[in-house]
Amino acid sequence: MQNPLRNLPSVSQLLESPQLKRLAESLNHQVVVDGVRDFLGDLRNRVSEKLEDVEIPAAADLAEKIAGWLKTQRRNQLRKVINGTGILLHTGLGRAPLSEAAIHAIQDVASGYCSVELDLATGQRGQRAQLVRQQLIDLTGCESAAVANNNAAATMLALSSLARGKEVIVSRGQLVEIGGSYRLPEVMECSGCRLREVGTTNKTRLADYEQAINENTGAILRVHPSNYQVVGFTETPDIRELVGLGHRRNIPVIDDIGSGALIDFSKYGLADEPMARQSVECGADLVLFSGDKLVGGPQCGIIIGRNKHVRQVLANPLMRAMRVGKLTLAALSATLAQYLRPELAEQEIPLLAMLATPLENLELRAKRIAGQISGIGPVASAEPVRENSMLGGGSVPGQLIPGWCISIAPAGRTVDQLAADLRNGSPAVLGRIKQDRLLIDVRTVHPSQDVALVNVFESLS
Ligand SMILES: *Cc1c(COP(=O)(O)O)cnc(C)c1O
Repeated sequence: MQNPLRNLPSVSQLLESPQLKRLAESLNHQVVVDGVRDFLGDLRNRVSEKLEDVEIPAAADLAEKIAGWLKTQRRNQLRKVINGTGILLHTGLGRAPLSEAAIHAIQDVASGYCSVELDLATGQRGQRAQLVRQQLIDLTGCESAAVANNNAAATMLALSSLARGKEVIVSRGQLVEIGGSYRLPEVMECSGCRLREVGTTNKTRLADYEQAINENTGAILRVHPSNYQVVGFTETPDIRELVGLGHRRNIPVIDDIGSGALIDFSKYGLADEPMARQSVECGADLVLFSGDKLVGGPQCGIIIGRNKHVRQVLANPLMRAMRVGKLTLAALSATLAQYLRPELAEQEIPLLAMLATPLENLELRAKRIAGQISGIGPVASAEPVRENSMLGGGSVPGQLIPGWCISIAPAGRTVDQLAADLRNGSPAVLGRIKQDRLLIDVRTVHPSQDVALVNVFESLS
């Protein structure tokens, strides 16, 4: 048998093909050369592993294949997604979408210079968080504030600033993992603190904390069980009791509330989300939460609390490593400004607007879109169905938000293939699969995307 590799075109031969020539001009010559080499290398390997199965295409076909492969490779960039998953705070999809005001604020500072660390009134160097400090004071009643890259960074900063080299007391019921790389015991170790576990998974009493206090105790940490629930025979002291104990024994209390509600979410049917203001009022020394969960702003970690403790955080060299940029501050500040006018916040902050959308409205949109896509290309049939959405992002476990979906039966492909085709659409569309149907949840699709959503289905026909 003849070695099929003898027919393999050379790199320079392939680069002469019109497709790859065009790509080299529009993309980058070296990127295309490297891509062709990688593709050929991979092909050679496959051929030498199983000689009989692999057929070497003609040069023109091969060039076309490589060009297509290079284009999909390039597409693995940050791409726009229509979120039909029904998960409002989808970490894989960048959590909270920003409000118009936040986007404008980013645009405003992105193109030029801005006063990110300069007090224009005095001409003196200022603190970055100064921009949002007063807003956070107004919204939560705290004494001071700092902003870090995310809540994981906020936690490390708080622990390292208040308790490095010391023990931090945490209930065994609160040793959380928030997806993959965030596991509290590891975060604790990285911050230079020693974890002092107390109580049991389901029951921890104030006396357990009290008995664990010794001369090496640096802080008490409470962590909100964001993404799980301990139900049944349970007990855990509330933040007020922990603060009482901490202050009696002169030990700072850090409260990681996770999602950080700035307003009461029970009106959206979401009970049990701790409010930042409440934690401050209970006397927690530092309160930590994400900017892109229930706040509905950009990715960041918000640290609020007492002057003395925030100053310790700001003086920590890690603060510099975990600080946020001007774009984040601009978006955060614009988002917080909207909360100062709560009647506007619900209309303008996308997360709140999604939560506040009435069911009738969602039903209408689901019906309309189902009618528009039913029978086209990849859709055998589509119908509106009552389903539940979820907050996600490690917020309010087990609480479902009533909603409406478009339930799609695929034509000429499996439901998994349909899901993959939609993911590769432009923009990409994500749904969820349930019993051989693809569901597109309209609560998480912005109404301005309805037309684009229908267009993606049409483009697949
Ligand atoms: C989400 C969450 C974190 C991590 O926050 P990031 O902003 O994703 O870093 C930490 N603690 C709790 C309780 C959370 O819910």
